[in-house]
Amino acid sequence: MERTLTIVKPDSVANNVAGEVLSYFERAGLRVVAAKMVWLTKRDAEAFYYVHKGKPFYDSLCDFMSGGPCVVAVLEGANAIARVREIMGATDPAKAAAGTIRNKLGTSIQENAVHGSDSAASAEFEIGFFFSRLEIMQTERKG
Ligand code: ATP
Ligand code: MG
Repeated sequence: MERTLTIVKPDSVANNVAGEVLSYFERAGLRVVAAKMVWLTKRDAEAFYYVHKGKPFYDSLCDFMSGGPCVVAVLEGANAIARVREIMGATDPAKAAAGTIRNKLGTSIQENAVHGSDSAASAEFEIGFFFSRLEIMQTERKG
């Protein structure tokens, strides 16, 4: 079992398709084990996307990500990190394969509907950025 972080980005929440985005993952057998709605400050967005600091799209990306509420969730399943990336599709919706979230719901390379962690190290950082241990459900819990 693997865990990854997804963000239903502000464009999807504004377009009223937050549930639709999460349902792509659920239909693929991934399980939501933590979820909440948050409105990031620009400083939060800058910290979350620190790996992109210095890139030409960084400032605009952080404005977009702090421009409205988003839904953050932890998804669990076998090979969750790679499977979420596949289900999302390519970064640029114009290049995203048919049947992917970004193909259907993304509107530009920036406003591309959804985020997913790109490696085990990113997933660990990103899950910890938003959720404490107590906020992540243990599916095997009995008592
Ligand atoms: P994400 O990290 O959001 O899951 P990704 O891994 O497919 O997306 P990255 O290269 O990590 O893509 O870029 C992070 C985000 O920055 C993209 O999802 C998109 O919103 C934005 N972005 C990436 N490249 C560009 C670009 N050339 N112009 C504008 N925005 C961009
Ligand atoms: Mg990325």
